Amino acid sequence: INAFFNGIDLFADNAAETLKNLFGFSRPLEELIYRHYELLREELERFFKYWPPEALKTLRESVEGELEDFLINGSPEQLDKIFIHIRDDLIFLINERAELFRRGSTSRELSSITKHLNAFMHPQGGENSVSDFYTISVLIKYGFFPGYSLAKGHVTARCLDNEGFVEIDRNYNIALREFAPLSRLYAVGKKYRPTRYNFYNADTKAGFRQRFIIIEDYIMPEKPDEPSFDNPAQLKLDSIHLTDPKLTLEGRPGDSENRRVIMGYDIRGIVKENHLGGFTAKSDGMITSFRRKDVVVLINVGSKRDIPNYGYGFYICPECGVIEENTPNGKDHFLRHLETIHNKHIQGERLNEYRRGIHAEFVSDVMVVGPFKSFEEAANYMESMKVGASIDLDISTSEIDSFINGREENYHVTFFETVPGGSGYIEVLFQYRESVMKTARTLLDSCDCKTACYRCLLSFWNQPYHSVLNRKKAIEVLDFIQTAGATTVVKIPGTRREKTSDGNLESPAEAKFLNIVREFGLPDPHLQYQVTISNMTTIADFAYPDIKLLIYIDGYTYHKGKGQEKIDLDRRQELILKASGYEVIRIGAKDLDDDEMMALYLQSISNSIQ
Ligand SMILES: [Zn+2]
Ligand SMILES: [Zn+2]
Ligand SMILES: [Zn+2]
Repeated sequence: INAFFNGIDLFADNAAETLKNLFGFSRPLEELIYRHYELLREELERFFKYWPPEALKTLRESVEGELEDFLINGSPEQLDKIFIHIRDDLIFLINERAELFRRGSTSRELSSITKHLNAFMHPQGGENSVSDFYTISVLIKYGFFPGYSLAKGHVTARCLDNEGFVEIDRNYNIALREFAPLSRLYAVGKKYRPTRYNFYNADTKAGFRQRFIIIEDYIMPEKPDEPSFDNPAQLKLDSIHLTDPKLTLEGRPGDSENRRVIMGYDIRGIVKENHLGGFTAKSDGMITSFRRKDVVVLINVGSKRDIPNYGYGFYICPECGVIEENTPNGKDHFLRHLETIHNKHIQGERLNEYRRGIHAEFVSDVMVVGPFKSFEEAANYMESMKVGASIDLDISTSEIDSFINGREENYHVTFFETVPGGSGYIEVLFQYRESVMKTARTLLDSCDCKTACYRCLLSFWNQPYHSVLNRKKAIEVLDFIQTAGATTVVKIPGTRREKTSDGNLESPAEAKFLNIVREFGLPDPHLQYQVTISNMTTIADFAYPDIKLLIYIDGYTYHKGKGQEKIDLDRRQELILKASGYEVIRIGAKDLDDDEMMALYLQSISNSIQ
């Protein structure tokens, strides 16, 4: 692994750029792995000798065919992900080092980073133990084995202290809370504080800087060519996209700190109505709509504790990304930072210009429901649906999340996926919404608490709504929606159009894939290509028959109770196909929005064609 990065000068001016353009790791790995196939098999067998027999039996039964073959064949793909991860670590360290230099810092951190990069560049040198250990630690962390997946659409916070490199990954909805300026993180027995957003390389990205208009519970993007509301409560908030938080070690959690402080933030959400179409169900003024791959923006507008006293936002340095909380104490720190680091002397009101929200923008299926007459009604409906979905559909609060946006008797609830563009859960929620509501109603009705309790509506995650949650109110809202009369489901067209209109394509994901193939300059593949081997027939979404290459787009396959069966069937087919000399590439629908992943897939397809 270290050798793969050999020949790249990590101290060169353009090192971060060079690394960013690096991909296609799996090909040379595959060759390497197949050359040493027998050796790897022997090593695995030796390794499994130390396993408890019961655990090994379970593991063997969970895969098709030989466990050892399964693990070895799956390795290149997994190693690819690890490579990309290590590459991003290096980019982070290079940026971090440049920033420390710029500040004229001579801290131990700087020498620690330099040592780390040096060791990485010279794995055979005197300091190879450092980088060997590092590489192994990454391999261990992500498990060299197939079957795990690195979540897409997440943020990685990093810390390099004297004792090593620590990373914490979070999906956007959680990252906006945990990596916000007032939060403390606990990992590997230590306590960390987010101190800086490493954004100075990313700030040319579209959507990086945004401005929002806030009127109490309502938030909307500022549109420069539209007149704004004439409302004294209206407020404009500048915001930056959350990216690459840097953590600073703050010590070890003491015994007195058994009770970890959960910081409350005011997290808002906006749906941009930029989607691939969907469905809408109307009944007596209530509208429920499902929209495929819409654009969602989540915004942390400040801490609930500080907004009433000091206003929205956090102090964020536009030059180096240093963050401070929005309190008199944070303000002092921030003033001193501007003076000592940037030689800027800012006074009074002008310091408010440095206050920013933190946002994340991503693509997800959404279900939007409304209008509700009050925030309270919206909150009770929203939390009832989550309770119902967890019982009825086995969808947990870590898989879907939601927010309320609105004003003046016009509130809407939006449900979205926490793994952006991924699971298909929102579509399931839309399809089964009636049954979810019934399940929720039954549960709420059977509880005997006065307003709400942890057996019915309350949970650790919905603390921000505890003051308005009330099971009787929730039943009222559910009954209103259900008795509102017959619903008609209408198809809604996309506001974002696919560039192609091939009638043969089964899903928007497949249409998207074809676009990407064409953009990459590869020849058009066959569509819906059928292969029959003895008594097994399969239809590949795309194929290059000349070179026996089949491409499947995995997505939208989740249907109630059917998910696992479908996956097992595909795996079995895949083994039969491989045994007959076919190469099979499976692309997750969520990867279609990930340029990095797609570049890898297309490079690998292109290599096969040539
Ligand atoms: Zn890492
Ligand atoms: Zn700064
Ligand atoms: Zn209860």
